[in-house]
Amino acid sequence: MPVDFIPPAKPIIGDEEREAVDRVLRSGMIAQGPEVAAFEQEFAEHFVGGRATVAVNSGTSGQHLGLLAAGVGPGDEVIVPSFTFAATGNSVALTGATPVFVDIEPDYFTLDPAAVRAAITPKTKGIMPVHLYGHPFLVDEIEAIAKEHGLGIYEDAAQAHGASWDGRQVGTIGDFAMFSLYPTKNMTSGEGGMVSCANDEIARNVRLLRNQGMETQYANEVVGFNARMTDVHAAIGRVQLTRVDGWTVQRQRNAAALNEGLAGVPGVQTPGVAEGAVHVYHQYTVRLDAGERDRIREALKEEHGVGSGVYYPIPNHRLPSLAEFAPGLDLPETERAAREVLSLPVHPSLSEGDLDRIVAAVADVVRAGA
Ligand SMILES: *Cc1c(COP(=O)(O)O)cnc(C)c1O
Repeated sequence: MPVDFIPPAKPIIGDEEREAVDRVLRSGMIAQGPEVAAFEQEFAEHFVGGRATVAVNSGTSGQHLGLLAAGVGPGDEVIVPSFTFAATGNSVALTGATPVFVDIEPDYFTLDPAAVRAAITPKTKGIMPVHLYGHPFLVDEIEAIAKEHGLGIYEDAAQAHGASWDGRQVGTIGDFAMFSLYPTKNMTSGEGGMVSCANDEIARNVRLLRNQGMETQYANEVVGFNARMTDVHAAIGRVQLTRVDGWTVQRQRNAAALNEGLAGVPGVQTPGVAEGAVHVYHQYTVRLDAGERDRIREALKEEHGVGSGVYYPIPNHRLPSLAEFAPGLDLPETERAAREVLSLPVHPSLSEGDLDRIVAAVADVVRAGA
């Protein structure tokens, strides 16, 4: 492998984050406390117009608790895309409800509104669309379907901090939305999640479920979890929050440079952006010839030192853990995407030289297979 490997993702942690952690550690109070409260407030103001927002120990916890708080449980069906990280389907299954996997539309890899419509049954309680790769789901159409059928919308905004649709920020659309703060996401707290809630009742329920079902100490009202965020993690997140907008702009610039550089390369389809959508490029994902994708990925790494990722090679409905919910299911666009997608580095630490190298490497490797 050549020197100077370009990694597919790179969390940025600086002195300010280290100092913030040190400050909390020195205070001697490290569990959930004032840092978490401040982080919730600042995150809410930054991303979701001040909506009631609850910090938890992971995005997955946020998704699980959000669903429980919104009343999803055994006997319910929730419509989810199969082309996503397993946490999406898992969080529905963990509530005792049934994840109903449907196909994506081919242009932006998000839920296909026609497929959602076709999957609705009397048991359908809600829809959990994913703002995949940082591109918002097709908000107008999905919202219209939810309204028409009286369904909840539970946003998986794990990858979409700062994305928007017609000026509406993601995280303000559904009954609740979950943002992940895992290190490779657009900002991090080490591990963590944020749940933005449409009303105070859902927010109160998430808070109860986060902390053993207690609002007042030792007066447990419901059976709950320990899904609290620590003040150490919140301190990291608060610093990241001051930097994330600059990183987003850099991701968008990097994506534009890749679009331009790859435009003339045959067999490479660059990512589309829907009208009205602001894409925050958690991933920059191209489509390649299915028979070539794995060879290209390998050669990028071995011959050019360019890392890449496949998100996701096995769709949720074919995972051994979730396949029981999808006997005999055929999702052609999902299967095609799983064979064709490749995510190239787009993270904010890339230099212009790195971007040139990525473009040249892709062009070279693709040409070698032609
Ligand atoms: C990362 C991610 C999650 C889960 O978040 P964690 O913080 O890792 O638990 C859920 N859905 C999607 C689409 C993700 O990318």
